[in-house]
Amino acid sequence: QTVLITGGTGFIGRNLIPLLQKENYKIIVISRTPSKYEDDFFFKHIELVEDFNQVQHADIVINLAGANLSAKRWSPQYKQEIVNSRLEVTHKLIDWMSQQKHKPHTLISGSAIGYYGARGNETLDESSTSGSASEFQVRLCSQWEDAAYRAEGLGVRVCCIRTGVVLGDEGALPQMSLPFKFGVGGKLGSGNQYFSWVHINDHVRAVMHLIDNKGLQGSFNLTAPHPVTNEVLTKTLGKVLSRPTFMTVPGFALKLTVGEMAKILLTGQRVVPKKLEESGFEFKYPELEQALTEILK
Ligand code: NDP
Repeated sequence: QTVLITGGTGFIGRNLIPLLQKENYKIIVISRTPSKYEDDFFFKHIELVEDFNQVQHADIVINLAGANLSAKRWSPQYKQEIVNSRLEVTHKLIDWMSQQKHKPHTLISGSAIGYYGARGNETLDESSTSGSASEFQVRLCSQWEDAAYRAEGLGVRVCCIRTGVVLGDEGALPQMSLPFKFGVGGKLGSGNQYFSWVHINDHVRAVMHLIDNKGLQGSFNLTAPHPVTNEVLTKTLGKVLSRPTFMTVPGFALKLTVGEMAKILLTGQRVVPKKLEESGFEFKYPELEQALTEILK
């Protein structure tokens, strides 16, 4: 069986590929710049292509491409790039699928917990409604999922993965732990806002679970079962890194440094993986301290 991955060169893709290789899947990765990875040992036995037209066939498609959310400040131009990069790739992908004689049977497509918007301490599972369309990340995730669900019209099984903050040696954690390493770590704003996270290892295992269980479809929260408040996150990070955590980053300072993204960091979201757990998925890292200890020690 062949798996096609868009954005497979990224943080999640690189962690997912070894699990697929272990199961003997043939892997094709779509990248904007395949030449960049020619000398990368990791991609030695993987086909890297620039365009869907170069792909003859795939049984399973995993759609992870998109401009990085924390790479730059969210200027109006960058916000447009965040949206366009995801929607264009997803629409192109479905158009490619529609032209295939033998269509893929499964599409696992990226989404994020931003779908639910800023909801205070309300517990959010997959039956919760989407957030307010006035919020950027709500519109982004809704449109991204809608684009992916077009594949259902072609008879393809679609799972959208509403991913929380993925913790691993890349992504958000190195950035988050930096101030702690300098001894100036601290809570953000009130510290009462929830942080919904998932260990990278559990994230990619959950994707494999969705691939393997062909009866599963629809949207799934890919977050650990125990989201924590920012205050608990701060204390746990300090404990694992053996660093003080008495500082507080005031909301206005955060807005000055990260701009609109500050709203997400200050309001937080309490998301639980109800459908994954009901389907029998077991987390290796259900608790934050365990997860951080494994990654940072
Ligand atoms: P990365 O940023 O590490 O990788 C995404 C990949 O997308 C890149 O390797 C790149 O591949 C491709 N890409 C980047 N910019 C563009 C662009 N403008 N147009 C088309 N493709 C682009 O992301 P992750 O692996 O961390 O995440 C994968 C997906 O999951 C993303 O869409 C992300 O939004 C989502 N997600 C991730 C979370 C996390 O905490 N990591 C949380 C919630 C959602 P190349 O350069 O080879 O083209």
